Amino acid sequence: MPDFSKRRLVQAMGVFPFATSLPARLAFASSSKVTREFDISAYRQALLPREHGQLVQLKQTLIRRYPSREQCMQMAAFFNAREGLLVIANDPTGGVADWEIRPGTKLRIHFYGDVPDVKIYRIKPTLEAAAELYREWALNQFWVRQRTRNSHRLDFVVVASNSSLNLEKQHIHHIKSINGGSIAVWFTQWRRHPFDRLYPDYTAKEPAQFAELLTHLADEGILALPYINSMLWDERLKPFQSMASQVAALSAEQEPVSYNRQLPFLRYACPQSTVWHKNIVDARNSILDATGKSCNGIYLDMLAAAAPIFCHHNQHGHKRQDAYAWQHGLRKLLEQTRGAIMVEGCAEVYLDLVDYLLMHLYTAQADQVPLWSAVYGDLVQTMGWNIPAGISESSMKALIQQAGSFGVGAQATPWMTSEPEASLAKRVYPSRPHSPEDIQLREIR
Ligand SMILES: [Zn+2]
Repeated sequence: MPDFSKRRLVQAMGVFPFATSLPARLAFASSSKVTREFDISAYRQALLPREHGQLVQLKQTLIRRYPSREQCMQMAAFFNAREGLLVIANDPTGGVADWEIRPGTKLRIHFYGDVPDVKIYRIKPTLEAAAELYREWALNQFWVRQRTRNSHRLDFVVVASNSSLNLEKQHIHHIKSINGGSIAVWFTQWRRHPFDRLYPDYTAKEPAQFAELLTHLADEGILALPYINSMLWDERLKPFQSMASQVAALSAEQEPVSYNRQLPFLRYACPQSTVWHKNIVDARNSILDATGKSCNGIYLDMLAAAAPIFCHHNQHGHKRQDAYAWQHGLRKLLEQTRGAIMVEGCAEVYLDLVDYLLMHLYTAQADQVPLWSAVYGDLVQTMGWNIPAGISESSMKALIQQAGSFGVGAQATPWMTSEPEASLAKRVYPSRPHSPEDIQLREIR
């Protein structure tokens, strides 16, 4: 099973711990697949495309599903002291594949869709050598060739943890005064329900104040990115229960697939469901400012992070083991979504349809390496970084610098930490706008 993972969002009242963003079960056994095997017995280290990239000693079996945050590119490299081996699946369709790494023996790739002619290269045992060859391949794929988005470069993403007009206005202006650049606001707590409860009800908690705040941001040229979960619905949301059977991703036993054991009332929607598309698109389009204009951006949680599930619903228009249903359904949803889009995760197959990637989950881990930025760093802006609680001013500067070396934009914001952003900014964020040091940090990015 894929790694158990946690994510955290900042908000004024504390931290919401998440459980896994991967489905409760992945249908490995029942799916038809074709497996290709490669000898990796000569290698002790692997370079893997998990979010920003991971360089790991081969000790335990790993299984990761593409396309997702865990296996965001269709490659893996293996190193020993003298040489490296780069494997590129070479699947231009980006179909679902499980990458199974067995230390000391084999890499096995299980293809559920088209079976490509896998490319193998002997390379120097370095990240740079692997990234260079993969980039050469990736630049010719549809998710790069088709990318025409005119994404505005951001210097800071403010975390707005509620929709209270005065509080948020004050905080946003404080950030603007010390940053002076191009700003977006990520609204995490704007709904009338607590976080991770009662999706897809996207009614604002304080509708009039939220609309007025959106108007204010639009007038100031600030991008608004309200949170919408692109995949989950809550079985306890009564008005949605009549639609639930139409949108649910179903297991082989025809049961709705749960998000995880901790939040079993949250269920996956199938990205191929047109009823689900309508729900999400309507939710996004109903976020209006006080003048009736649609807000200029949106954040779609989980979209490019979660591992694909094989849905067994027989009325979604896909086959039972369709290796493309998940990807194509999400692409349709993105195509229908107006304005700027930030998504969670970095599955490469969506790159042509999004503006910003939230990539924060593994940034606190020591085995993280900047593989992503070496391949796609110039294509799309990545955002977000984990910050330890109680961080000092000097550590904060070092951390922003480290994030910059990974190609993470916007001063590593939104910051993921338990401390409310307003107090963190006052305590440790550089207070002089455009100081030589700030300029230096911008140049590093
Ligand atoms: Zn389905």
